[in-house]
Amino acid sequence: MKAPRVIGGVCLTVNPKGCMASVRRWINEERGRPPLLSGPKSVLVLGCSGGYGLAARVVAAFGAGAQTLGVSFERPPTLKRRATPGWYNNLAFDAAAAEAELFSETLVADAFLDETRQAVIDRARERGIPHFDLVIYSLAAPQRTDPVTGVTHRSAIKPIGQPLSGQTMDVASGVLSDVTLTPATPEEIEGTVKVMGGEDWLLWARALKEAGLLADGVRMVALSYIGPSSTYAIYRSGTLGRAKEHLESTADEISRLLAPLNGRAQVSVQKALITRASSVIPIMSVYVCAMYRVMKAKGVHEGCLEQMDRLFRERLYAGGEVPVDEAGRIRLDDWELRADVQAEIEAILARVTPDNLAELGDTEGCRRELMALYGF
Ligand code: NAD
Repeated sequence: MKAPRVIGGVCLTVNPKGCMASVRRWINEERGRPPLLSGPKSVLVLGCSGGYGLAARVVAAFGAGAQTLGVSFERPPTLKRRATPGWYNNLAFDAAAAEAELFSETLVADAFLDETRQAVIDRARERGIPHFDLVIYSLAAPQRTDPVTGVTHRSAIKPIGQPLSGQTMDVASGVLSDVTLTPATPEEIEGTVKVMGGEDWLLWARALKEAGLLADGVRMVALSYIGPSSTYAIYRSGTLGRAKEHLESTADEISRLLAPLNGRAQVSVQKALITRASSVIPIMSVYVCAMYRVMKAKGVHEGCLEQMDRLFRERLYAGGEVPVDEAGRIRLDDWELRADVQAEIEAILARVTPDNLAELGDTEGCRRELMALYGF
């Protein structure tokens, strides 16, 4: 087996067996919980191959017994090169679903294209799926080609208004270094909103509705992040936050579209976790490292699977009105933002140096989690 090589939070090697074993572990964990009897029955997951999307798919299928159709953008293997991790995750998921006699099918395609929307609609019809009662939107992508204009937009992870200097942690090595990020240009802000905002989510809602593929009472859920004020400069007040604000405001527009079906679109605010997408966000990594240490010590740490299980079990399918905040968002970042958790994280961040990071934060836990994403 090739030794793992990591550059800038991205591992260049993959261990297929390890990826597949991780998916099976999640499936077994979910099966160990009481069945979600009131859960969804037919689920579309956009961004199904890793992180939050994969976790949602596992909970839908192995917690609620739902049929699932997934879309993700992964590179297949060639004779010379292994596939991306999500490719193997998809294989493992589909194999386990088949063993459990649960319908599942996975499309590897660019979810931002109209052709992919049509392919999902065609596939659902071919397979006799009458409609979806839950659509999870969990895409994290570096670029998107606008299907109307043909222009390719790129997302940037930058502050807005002024430069941002801070410490960043290389997740793989736990090494802390200083970094300064220049403020985003108007084009970079616009590009990030185009890629990670709600425009594409709305196009999915329209296409699925027009195709008659949305069930009465359908729920469409997209994922967001807010975080504490100590991370606003890099996230919520930066380019990514601008895109998330757009995504969040799109929920109302989609809800209006779904109203004749008694459906609703909502954004669910999740906790910060190390995933393939998040491990490349500078500066956030130091916060995440401290947060892991504090939340684990308090016994309130959750991974993607626990977060998604709680979303389904205690929010979406708990019966009755789904609890939301003043802006209509579902909050699963409640434990991360607890005052006692944040006070301890802040105390760590105030003292952290390259020499004491491993002692004060959870560098080892973060490193292990990053490597596990690639099957190591
Ligand atoms: P991830 O990298 O684990 O998953 C991203 C998914 O998107 C993968 O399945 C990938 O194949 C898919 N994808 C990317 N480009 C695609 C394309 N063009 N077409 C089809 N599929 C594509 O990332 P994640 O962290 O699980 O992120 C999922 C969502 O959760 C994002 O919206 C993210 O902002 C949100 N979120 C993440 C965190 C976190 O800390 N990780 C916290 C809160 C919210």
